[in-house]
Amino acid sequence: MNDDNSRELYDRALSVMPGGVNSAVRAAIEPYPFFVQKGDGGHVIDADGNRYIDWVMGLGPLMLGHDLPQPVQSRIQQKASEGPMYGTPTEIEVDLAEFVVRHVPSVEKIRFVNSGTEATVSAVRLARGATGRNKVVINQGGYHGAQESTLVEGDAESVAPSSAGIPQSFAEHTIPVPFNDETAVREAFEEHGDDIAAVMTEPILGNYGVVHPEDGYHEFLREITEEHDSLLIFDEVITGFRVGGLGCAQSEFDVTPDLTTFGKLIGGGFPVGAIGGRADLIEQFAPSGPVFQAGTFSGHPVTMAAGLETLQFAAENDVYDHIDELGDRLRDGLSDIVDDQAPEYTVAGTAGMFKVIFTRDGEAPRNAADVKNAETDRWRRIFWGQMKEQGVFLSQNQFECQFVSYGHTDEDVDETLEAYKHAL
Ligand code: PMP
Repeated sequence: MNDDNSRELYDRALSVMPGGVNSAVRAAIEPYPFFVQKGDGGHVIDADGNRYIDWVMGLGPLMLGHDLPQPVQSRIQQKASEGPMYGTPTEIEVDLAEFVVRHVPSVEKIRFVNSGTEATVSAVRLARGATGRNKVVINQGGYHGAQESTLVEGDAESVAPSSAGIPQSFAEHTIPVPFNDETAVREAFEEHGDDIAAVMTEPILGNYGVVHPEDGYHEFLREITEEHDSLLIFDEVITGFRVGGLGCAQSEFDVTPDLTTFGKLIGGGFPVGAIGGRADLIEQFAPSGPVFQAGTFSGHPVTMAAGLETLQFAAENDVYDHIDELGDRLRDGLSDIVDDQAPEYTVAGTAGMFKVIFTRDGEAPRNAADVKNAETDRWRRIFWGQMKEQGVFLSQNQFECQFVSYGHTDEDVDETLEAYKHAL
């Protein structure tokens, strides 16, 4: 595959940007990332004209694929042509807020921000402000963005920042526990119950190989947080409007969190985040409450239009059926290939999420430690050595989820299965 233009662009990028990229994970593609020229349905075309079936989909925000259907596209263009933004409210923010409140029962009010990270930062501040407590319980292997309270490693006994630049004293307010481990959560509450502001969890781990909750895990989190007057925060930045359709993953699991963080799909491909939840909690945000939260770009009209039109299009068309059907075909096909050629591996995912995990025993992982124990090095060789060469773009490492969109076709699934068959 000719990649001269990407290599040249990467050389230029390395001179002016750290690691040549604007987000850490992008540099993981070997030997250097390909630079995308444009998208086309379920495909991307790189700077050298190579075409890839794209299962990364912007790392999640593109439910409709790269070609936005007409009502969505023209509304975005109309909003952009009216002047990008104003620093004072617009009707479209209210429209999108009403849409979310109508479809997600736990969301009575919502604040829009500009990224998933901003959403989780604000949700943690809100939980601390509303409860007057300091600590948050999170899951090992969960990802809540590039934020001080959750970039930690370790366990309840010994926790440390996982990035340079974060004081140890910040990390000490965070309690990481294994996903699906009720005992660990119970112990955290026994020790710190009256200082735990919230438990924050992804309903399905989507940044660590795709790990599903065991039956009853989220109900347990709901009960124990209620018992201790702590809040339950679902981080639905990945699962929101993807799993469980417009009701989000919380409707699939039938658990009502106090707060939900959104990102990705809710902005239809533009920078976005949101914090929704109980009215009495969301009202704690300034200016109605004492928890400071603000942003120049928050509720950006172009983003709001993209989000609203995307979700409305999904509500009125067969978007979820199409994605679920292709997702099932892909996961079933992958399971057959794995059974046949590499029974130690596992296929995980649901709705528009999928991932082949290079487990060593064919057992679906229960938590981050199980995923970490997988053959991550083999993943690198197979995917950068084989899948990319066959024109299939998968997520940049063993851990991040891949996404099916409305822009994908049966042919994309067939070609991808052939490529996996060859690669594995
Ligand atoms: N929470 C979850 C569950 C995520 O998957 C991500 C991003 N992958 C974030 C938060 C952070 O979102 P962003 O990258 O938009 O800041």
